[in-house]
This record gives sequence, structure tokens and C-alpha cells, in this order.
Amino acid sequence: MSAGARPYVVGLTGGIGSGKSAAADRFAALGAAVVDTDQIAHQLTAPGGAAMPAIEAAFGAGVVAADGALNRPAMRTLAFEDTAARKRLEAILHPMIRDESERRCRCAAAPYVILAVPLLVESGTYRERIDRLCVVDCPEAVQVARVMARSGLDAHQVRAIMAAQATREARLAVADDVVDNAGTVAALQARIDALHVGYLARAARAKGL
Ligand code: ADP
Repeated sequence: MSAGARPYVVGLTGGIGSGKSAAADRFAALGAAVVDTDQIAHQLTAPGGAAMPAIEAAFGAGVVAADGALNRPAMRTLAFEDTAARKRLEAILHPMIRDESERRCRCAAAPYVILAVPLLVESGTYRERIDRLCVVDCPEAVQVARVMARSGLDAHQVRAIMAAQATREARLAVADDVVDNAGTVAALQARIDALHVGYLARAARAKGL
């Protein structure tokens, strides 16, 4: 495929609970193609998933559930206790996620692509692949409250996850566009609607239209 045929790609990121999924859903409803690396990771480790043979070979049958999917609690415990195991898991999954997300971006039949990557700011490779970076942002206390309501984790556990992610300031420092999601879902959607108009124009310009 020629370089000119590459679609315009907007990276979408934000801390846990900031509202990335809600934002991505709105972009999708407006007609953008959404490529979500979390979703790809789940598909790779679902029953019959492309990563499962390599994961079983590396870690044994104990990390495979009866249905052939990744036994997530077992893998999480292993990866948490053993840094080398976590790195081995990442060495299997990350290249597959990168390749599959790249393929989906290239094949997207939409004016532009939203590439949703939770740890985009932390990862050099994804930043090289995007034309623009959109960060969903809200105060940390709001993130904690939303994740607690969604998941049943306690505040301490949510804060521990947030501590392993880039800081709010680090994300905002590299953002081209910021979606303030401290308000209502309707306000979030109105902001996405406005960004969508801009991304359509940028994508058209990039194509030379
Ligand atoms: P992320 O994908 O960044 O982890 P989500 O989009 O899943 O975040 O949002 C986290 C939780 O907060 C979800 O349960 C979602 O429905 C809820 N949520 C998102 N945006 C808002 C908002 N503006 N007001 C209230 N709840 C929201």
C-alpha cells in the first residue's frame, strides 16, 4: 500500500477511568473507525486466540482455562509475583497487538481512525504511528470514583493502578487535543462531536483533498 493511502490516525488515550471507552464509542457513532488495543489483547487471549499457543508453551497449562482462554487470575498472579514472567508475556503479546492494530488501521474503511491505546504516552512505538494525540482527562478523584463504581476495586487498588501509569501532567503535556471529562456524558459527547469535525478536515487535508 502506498504511503499516500495510509489513513489519518488519531491516538486516543487517558488514565484508567478517564472515559476513553465512552469517548471511543462516541467517535465510532460518528463514523470513525475505532481500533482498540485492549480489545485486540482480549481477542488474542480468548478461546482459540492467536497468542494462546505461545502463552501455553511459555507458562504451561496452568494459565489456560478449561475453555482454552487465558486464565486471567492465574496469569495476573504469576506476572505480579515474577517480573521475568510479566516481561515474557509482554514479549509474546505486544508484537502481536502492534501488528494487528497496524493491520486494522491500514484496512479501516472510514475517513480517519481512532487508535485507542491505554498506555500510549508510556509507549514510544504507538506515538510514532499517530498523526495526532487526543487525551481524555479528568481529576484523579473522579477517576478513582468511576473505576470503583465500575469494578468493585477499592480506592487503594485503583490508586495503585494509576501510580503505574503516566501522570496526568505527563499526558496533558504531550496532548494535541484534550477532552475534559469531568462533567456529564452529554458534555463529553458534545466535545467529541466538535473534535470529529476537526479530524474530518485534517484527514481530508492529509489526503490532499
Ligand atoms: P476508561 O475506558 O478510560 O477506563 P470508561 O469510558 O470506561 O473509562 O469510563 C469509566 C466509567 O465512568 C464507566 O463506567 C463510564 O460509564 C463512566 N463515565 C465515563 N464518562 C462519564 C461521565 N462524563 N460522567 C459519568 N460517568 C462517566
